[in-house]
Amino acid sequence: MHVNKKRLLVLFLLNILIAIHIILWYRLNYQKVGTFSLNGIVSLFGIGLLNSAAAFFILVVLITIFSGRLFCGWGCHFAFFQEFALKILNKFRINPQIIHSKANIIQYVFLLKTLTAVYEFWLIYGLPQFHVSFGDTQVMTVDLPRSPIIITLFILFDAFLFIYLLGSRAFCRYVCPWAPILALFDNISPLRIRKIGECKGCMTCTRNCTMGIQVHSEIAQYGAVVDTNCIRCLTCKGACPNGTLGYKWGSNVISIIRKIKWLIPKKSNYCWYYELILIFCGLIVAYFTQMWLGSFQTFLGAAWGLCFGMLIIRLLESKSISLKEITLYREKFLIVSLVTLCTLAWCWITNTPHDTRLLLRGNRFMDLIEYDKAISIYNQALNEGSSNNEIRAMLALAYKTKGDYNRSITEYKILINNNPDNAALHNNLGTVYYRKGDYDLAIEEYKKSTQLDTHLTAAYGNIGLIFLEKGNIEESIPYLRKVFQNEDEMLKYIFEFYKPKQDLKG
Ligand code: SF4
Ligand code: SF4
Ligand code: SF4
Repeated sequence: MHVNKKRLLVLFLLNILIAIHIILWYRLNYQKVGTFSLNGIVSLFGIGLLNSAAAFFILVVLITIFSGRLFCGWGCHFAFFQEFALKILNKFRINPQIIHSKANIIQYVFLLKTLTAVYEFWLIYGLPQFHVSFGDTQVMTVDLPRSPIIITLFILFDAFLFIYLLGSRAFCRYVCPWAPILALFDNISPLRIRKIGECKGCMTCTRNCTMGIQVHSEIAQYGAVVDTNCIRCLTCKGACPNGTLGYKWGSNVISIIRKIKWLIPKKSNYCWYYELILIFCGLIVAYFTQMWLGSFQTFLGAAWGLCFGMLIIRLLESKSISLKEITLYREKFLIVSLVTLCTLAWCWITNTPHDTRLLLRGNRFMDLIEYDKAISIYNQALNEGSSNNEIRAMLALAYKTKGDYNRSITEYKILINNNPDNAALHNNLGTVYYRKGDYDLAIEEYKKSTQLDTHLTAAYGNIGLIFLEKGNIEESIPYLRKVFQNEDEMLKYIFEFYKPKQDLKG
């Protein structure tokens, strides 16, 4: 079987495994092992949590150190959609040209954005404390798109249109934030495509390279492919008619003949102002898409923006109009641009704040008793830097209602840290401890609550209730007296409290 067919099969089976995992997790409630995602870096360094995603991240980094970006060639689920899209386009005799542009600095921006999440976790939870829990999917590792509409949009734009306009593996080369990290480790990989025979310079390898690398010239210069974009797909090796290439161990190329290589291409297809159009469109559309559709959709927005930028460039090229000409002589273009920018700015300023919109959206899911969706939305708002305490309070409530008491406690503690004198928050935290069965901690919080607000009868009632639960009627009475108007009502309550249990025993 041809190496590309083998690879496509492996990538397809990988997606099947992911589908099985999703079914196990969401339908069959088997939640022992969570998401496998490179976002695990945030769990690991942000809060010290070694979950399945963090372990996956470590494994991928180790593989990359030894074998280069083998994971990108053979192990990434999104690689399948990109390769599949290219296959379909080829079937229709469309062979997209691989466009090289410095607009790939967008992926560095996204990487930086992801890494700042680590810092945000430090601000919220303090310095990371190492702990292991493979089933714990912290926000960054659970926030993947599940809506069929979003997934379809991803496949249409980040795979098909993107590849049609920018060439093979456009998502990997322009958007994926993990590419720069993996490329960094790729530098030290001893296992790479190497020259093992005589090269006739036919360039078949270069023409077939999935990532648009100048394979023949790298082989001639270094005796190996040193471009950190190489995903070890082995297509060049299979395509070489002379058996010149092999995937072999060898001396560490970086230490001997070169410096660390980055992903930014030295040569690109376009002049600087076309590059600027691409970068501007990619970033601006990504920014607004994130605002309107949520954090993960940033990648979708970047694809939209870059495609839009490419269309502008193609239009300019087809009409042979230089940007200079447009800006100098075409006032209409300037007026339209100005009106568009003003409209965008006006929409932005007059809009309801984004976090308020998310809060309302989350509350709607709470009303519909869809706690997971509500939690995901509240988390999204907080991940995006919202400091709205109402959102965190709703998140704590959602976790409590769902029965995830540990996370609810964490959120209430953060809230109390910000508002130590808020009696209601102590009362709420006490209730979570009570539900969890930690009666002593619950009483402690209720007592703090009554010290802060002596009129908060709910907290007195809650303490009384816990003493009743413990069978300690005498201690419960002083607290219950604060709740009930008269002794009769209180005694009736106590009687009712024990009655069902007596009936059961009887
Ligand atoms: S660059 Fe990103 S999307 Fe592409 S294969 Fe690697 S991890 Fe997957
Ligand atoms: S396909 Fe083989 S022979 Fe041709 S340039 Fe590449 S390595 Fe050399
Ligand atoms: S150089 Fe060869 S192995 Fe590397 S990406 Fe290109 S075709 Fe794949």
